[in-house]
Amino acid sequence: MREVKATHPSVPEWSDYVRGLAGKTAVGTMREHLRTCAACRAIAADLSAVVKTAAADRESSVPSELTVQAKAIFRPGPALDWLQRVRQLAAVLTFDSGAAAGLPVGVRGSAASARQLSYSAGDYDVDLRVEPAGGGAPGTDLAGQVVRRGLGSQGVEGALVQVVARGKTLRETETNQFGEFLLSYAATPAGMLRIVIREDSCQFDLSIENRKRK
Ligand SMILES: [Zn+2]
Repeated sequence: MREVKATHPSVPEWSDYVRGLAGKTAVGTMREHLRTCAACRAIAADLSAVVKTAAADRESSVPSELTVQAKAIFRPGPALDWLQRVRQLAAVLTFDSGAAAGLPVGVRGSAASARQLSYSAGDYDVDLRVEPAGGGAPGTDLAGQVVRRGLGSQGVEGALVQVVARGKTLRETETNQFGEFLLSYAATPAGMLRIVIREDSCQFDLSIENRKRK
């Protein structure tokens, strides 16, 4: 799976970019970034499509009796709300195989060193398996799956998965068609895993630090 190590502009920054609201310096950097980053190209394309749809909606002239009817059905500006911010969902730890044993995430040298964690956030469930890197190498392997609850619990394809520490994106990947991802990182960062669901314009953060259940 592809990994991108650069720091990516945020979704709100891309939102400004596609609407022509980003500063001149930023535009240069972001245009350059788009050349090398398929993940951000996808975000920019999604946002750009939404901007065009919103603009077309505003421009189309509608008979007044229909307008009244439409106002009763639609709240104004959902597309623009979508652009202006990504909803931050609260994630709740629902299962932790290491909690009973008090194991830190990514603990080494034990036969039962893989740790399973499950989180729920909004309509999404995330299962994580955290274990020391194979072959005795330093570092941690993190495998997981992002699933949308509901009919058939579909895996979420194309979600951004980032290891974030002290405001920096250390590692990033994308979920595959089954919603699965795999990341490796050095040691255990004092950080978190950020999941960005682009199609739903929301994100949530999962703790991957050493932790004990309260
Ligand atoms: Zn990027």
